[in-house]
Amino acid sequence: METILLLAHTEADGSLAKSAREALHAAATLHKSLAGSKLVIGLVGENVQAAANSIAACPATKYLGVSGPDFGQSRYATDAAAAEAICKAAQVTIVVAPATSRMARCLPGVAQRLGGRADAHVTGIAAADGKISVNRWYYRQRMEATLDRTKRPWFILVDPGSQPACQCEGGTANVENVAVQLSDACKRTTVVGVRAPAADAQTIRPDAQLLFVTGAGWTKKQADGQAHLPEAEKLILNFLKLSRASLGSSKSLVDLGGEGQAVLPFLSHLNQVGQTGATPRHPKGLSTCCHGEEPHTVGWRFIGERRAVNLDPNCGWARGKADVLYVADAFAVMGKVNELLAAKKS
Ligand SMILES: Cc1cc2nc3c(=O)[nH]c(=O)nc-3n(C[C@H](O)[C@H](O)[C@H](O)COP(=O)(O)OP(=O)(O)OC[C@H]3O[C@@H](n4cnc5c(N)ncnc54)[C@H](O)[C@@H]3O)c2cc1C
Repeated sequence: METILLLAHTEADGSLAKSAREALHAAATLHKSLAGSKLVIGLVGENVQAAANSIAACPATKYLGVSGPDFGQSRYATDAAAAEAICKAAQVTIVVAPATSRMARCLPGVAQRLGGRADAHVTGIAAADGKISVNRWYYRQRMEATLDRTKRPWFILVDPGSQPACQCEGGTANVENVAVQLSDACKRTTVVGVRAPAADAQTIRPDAQLLFVTGAGWTKKQADGQAHLPEAEKLILNFLKLSRASLGSSKSLVDLGGEGQAVLPFLSHLNQVGQTGATPRHPKGLSTCCHGEEPHTVGWRFIGERRAVNLDPNCGWARGKADVLYVADAFAVMGKVNELLAAKKS
């Protein structure tokens, strides 16, 4: 009989992130399909009661918490000690956790301490005839594998965005406190602050409906023999403002900046989509002035509907990489789109 633990950390404000609710959905679905299994919730944070209350109506029979000021921040030693204590208290066989940087960093170590195994980047969990299997992608999302393990405890880190979030109601959860003894050595590392772009400079929006991708074409000489960077910048930023899309880029465009060439200043390598970039998840994607080369489009694996605007009817998008290709000038198309969006808004 499997004991399934949903293990998550709280956010700075004591709430549960969407990624934790997604992992809970995966854990609860697994619990439902495994007759005789138990579902336990384990939470780590400065104060875990509010987070536990927010999911009190989920099918878990037990809530375990490790809390206190020492557990508010992301730190390997304290997070690993907390996770280890919760796993032991629950006598878990399967641990499902969101693959946040905080969980991904400590859980492989906890698996080692408990003689178990860990799998990261999991995008699906299923059970048939009592056997549990997980899905994950390899070689930059080119190959999908299904794997199972007999070793327990099995730590399964679920990729954010790959599952629907659990919609269970709140209530009052009875959280059992799990005591953890920390030596001073566990508290040597401290988080002294967080550096993040200002809210209006934040162009990467994982929850956006649309991924808007810019390619090197925006910086190239156009029909009049001139490059039009200020115009490109205005069109792109206006579109992001009006649509709240997330901004992606081709490698060529972000590389241009590193090579000292004139480039769009709001782009960094964090925006890069592809084999050596990110694999974001959005219902729709629109690519502009980007050729649609294979190393770029492998990053589009989890984009639902793909459209592209390119002047070249023989570009990579035309060869099966996009659902719709507009053979058109992206400057003209995006200018018109912005006009329509602004009119709709007003
Ligand atoms: C090992 C390896 C890993 C790589 N990893 C990645 C990766 O992770 N991500 C990535 O993006 N690339 C990656 N690449 C690079 C990739 O192969 C391409 O070189 C790159 O994606 C091309 O970028 P681009 O399409 O923006 O530029 P270009 O190839 O220069 O294409 C620009 C396009 O803009 C179009 N255009 C110009 N003006 C207009 C206009 N007015 N309107 C409409 N269209 C216009 C042109 O027709 C052209 O198709 C990798 C390469 C290698 C070898």
